[in-house]
Amino acid sequence: MSKNAKKPKRQKLIKELDSVFSLYIRLRDSDSHWIVTCPLCWKKIPVKFAQNMHFISRWVLKYRFDENNCFAGCMRCNVILNGNYIEYTMFMIKKFWIEKVNQMKNDKELFELKTREIEEKIAYYKEQNQKLEKKKHFKE
Ligand SMILES: [Zn+2]
Repeated sequence: MSKNAKKPKRQKLIKELDSVFSLYIRLRDSDSHWIVTCPLCWKKIPVKFAQNMHFISRWVLKYRFDENNCFAGCMRCNVILNGNYIEYTMFMIKKFWIEKVNQMKNDKELFELKTREIEEKIAYYKEQNQKLEKKKHFKE
């Protein structure tokens, strides 16, 4: 397979992983009535309308699918307030202490995600989602 033929497949897989990982974060952070409380503004939203908010930008591949870098929140904080970074930083420091947040923020380590690893993550999070859906009786 040529290099060019490989690319769309990888992008498709990353898109699929974005979607299953987003559902995982939203299910993980919801209560037993499938309600997410935005950790940045305390607004309550149904899982369906909640968003997967990245602390370190999703364009940094190493943290795009990192469970400690992602929390479910509201569209207003994530999109309209452009990540609501002052509140998000406060939340992260309260949750993980400043050393870890600094380390994440300053992380310049080279990171590679192989196509096989993307596929493994998709399978893993699909399974986790099924477990969470069953546990919380979730129906989208
Ligand atoms: Zn919010």
